[in-house]
Amino acid sequence: MRPGPFSEGELVVLVDPYHQRYLLRLQAGQKYSCQHGAIAHDAVIGQAEGTILRSTKDVPLVAFRPTLSDYVLKMKRGAQILYPKDLGSIFMRADVFPGARVFEAGAGSGALTLVLLRAVGPTGRVVSYEMRPEFAERARLNVVGLLGDCPNWTLRVRDVYQGIEEEPFDRALLDLPAAWEVLPQAEAALRPGGILVAFFPTIRQIEETATALERLPALRLVEIFETIERPWQARGLSVRPHQRIIGHTGFIIVARKLAAPGASPEPVEPLLPGFEGTEA
Ligand code: SAH
Repeated sequence: MRPGPFSEGELVVLVDPYHQRYLLRLQAGQKYSCQHGAIAHDAVIGQAEGTILRSTKDVPLVAFRPTLSDYVLKMKRGAQILYPKDLGSIFMRADVFPGARVFEAGAGSGALTLVLLRAVGPTGRVVSYEMRPEFAERARLNVVGLLGDCPNWTLRVRDVYQGIEEEPFDRALLDLPAAWEVLPQAEAALRPGGILVAFFPTIRQIEETATALERLPALRLVEIFETIERPWQARGLSVRPHQRIIGHTGFIIVARKLAAPGASPEPVEPLLPGFEGTEA
């Protein structure tokens, strides 16, 4: 991701007056067509980011380099992706830091993989397992499409229930239907102080996971939450929530690995993080 004018081969998002986004890769001599008519790629190449162009139907379209959110929402999907609001929460709760060794299953379409690769940086390492070869290939194309070759990323077509190799990991992230079945392996793959984060669309799955965690005394400080993002509009005096929002995506469960399984430090009702007050 660089500053300066657009050049051939780069990704561009064109944003229309309704904030609809269109993702394309610039190729000299090509035309991009959408509901607003066509735009010549040559009209974008050489322009600064943020330039307003006009389609053949005279609709203004602004050209930007795609943000990670733009890319994730527009890239081709095999499996359902994690949405940016959940990706942001997972990044923060899993505390994915530059240089971290991160395990992930399943790779799906690669949305979380992209966030992880960006967060760990060139000194970190991401290992992704994906059971279905066609989804693994989709994830690979999506990752390479944005980041190019990633020598610090290992993608394996593998069933995570067969076990996790390449350990130890600082972080383990699970986005698969029955992730509670792989918790003992995830626990073993994490180093002491490591963080486990799992995402589930239904509360039944959270229940299964919470119950499975009770049987794993080295995974503690369990937290369960969901993120609700409510977009608002501000147009003159009309300042109000949008009428349509993403009503539900899923729930997130977090746990931390102890050095040795011991007496549970779990209080009956934990204080929520952020409610403890601040240190002077
Ligand atoms: N987090 C991904 C989406 C994951 S969807 C993203 O943001 O794009 C869940 C994925 O888990 C699917 O691709 C599915 O094939 C995979 N999966 C399900 N069971 C699995 C298993 N046992 N081992 C590895 N992958 C599995």
